Amino acid sequence: MKDLHNIPENAAGQMVWELPVASKMGDLPIKLDDTTLRDGEQTAGVVFSNEEKVNIARMLDEIGVDQIEAGIPTMGGDECEVIEEIAHLGLNASILAWNRASLDDIKTSLGCGVDAIAISLATSDIHIETKLRKDRAWVLDSIRKAVAFAKEHNVYVSVNAEDASRTELGFLLEFAAAAKAEGADRLRFCDTIGIMEPFRCYSIVKHLIEETGLEVEMHTHNDFGMAVANALAGLHAGATWINVTVGGLGERAGNAALEEVVMALKYLEGVDLDIDTKRFREVADYVMQAAGRTVSAWKPIVGSNMFAHESGIHADGVIKNPKTYEVFSPDEVGLERQIVVGKHSGSKTIEMKLTEFGIAITREHAADLLPLVRSKAVGLNRSLFDKELVELYHEFLVTAGVDPTVGLPTDTKAAASTKAAKAEKAE
Ligand SMILES: [Zn+2]
Repeated sequence: MKDLHNIPENAAGQMVWELPVASKMGDLPIKLDDTTLRDGEQTAGVVFSNEEKVNIARMLDEIGVDQIEAGIPTMGGDECEVIEEIAHLGLNASILAWNRASLDDIKTSLGCGVDAIAISLATSDIHIETKLRKDRAWVLDSIRKAVAFAKEHNVYVSVNAEDASRTELGFLLEFAAAAKAEGADRLRFCDTIGIMEPFRCYSIVKHLIEETGLEVEMHTHNDFGMAVANALAGLHAGATWINVTVGGLGERAGNAALEEVVMALKYLEGVDLDIDTKRFREVADYVMQAAGRTVSAWKPIVGSNMFAHESGIHADGVIKNPKTYEVFSPDEVGLERQIVVGKHSGSKTIEMKLTEFGIAITREHAADLLPLVRSKAVGLNRSLFDKELVELYHEFLVTAGVDPTVGLPTDTKAAASTKAAKAEKAE
């Protein structure tokens, strides 16, 4: 019988229970291809200035992303200029340009000096018949010609099977085989409309890799909230690349978020991609500001609420040991822990918060102050600013006629009265 008491834990403190399927996670190096500048910018209503695009490319390179999908050269104008500029910045990352399966598109991209070419072509019948108004034979012929042309110019070629997740598997294999025969370096499995779920995703990707021998990249959308889960499922099945965006920016509900993928790999799967995660919040702030958005408070990994604790039980736990309610430390992603005083706070939180302002309070007084804190928060319809808590404390002393030093240990009394006086002045 299996020993259920001595199962090893992952970095998140969870037992590493066996998977129901064979996993290739960690067998081969996993690489990140960031498409903030292409799919991210395709988000409805988002446009980056060229200066912002260059800054974003530099940041992505500095934090250690392997490849940067810089945009679509065939759009011409500013887009073409900035891709050329990014390709000549001397970054460590490979610079990839997006193309249709068109020799003209590819020629324009080659003219920008990129070292990698993505050739995108829809493979699902609905796209082939209603969008392209072509047939499967045309798709196979087009991808062969496009890949062969790009490979003649000695660039890395990613073949993007658009709407792969709705493509008949037999045809997807034919498409992949045709691209491979012309020298394609990898196949991008595009869950273009975000309809995969991890178990089926695993099966399809496993089959694709076994049948074609091509490297596979996961391009997953978040329409059902499963972009990251599907990307991880692909990696378990043997995919080696993940296409991500900062903050999950991208068409509709967005793409797999860079921060979520990196931290999930590190903490849940035990795979460290050697990315400078300490800059995650800074990079997310920059990209979102450039996109005219903000990083929402409840965003996984980089949202400010990740390390904000209000409820009494949680705050007490975190004060005693952060690992009670946090998987990793806030500085690891460039955030700070916040203990929030509000309706759900407990007296321990009040004690701790006042200590930050040099005010020592007895446990009994903190318990007496607690109902006032709660009703103030309800009245304001929000949590309290630190200054409001300190004011409430002083009001409490007056209205309750309390001597704050009664009950405090003697050595704390003197310190408490001087610090409290200082805190009052400082206000
Ligand atoms: Zn996409």
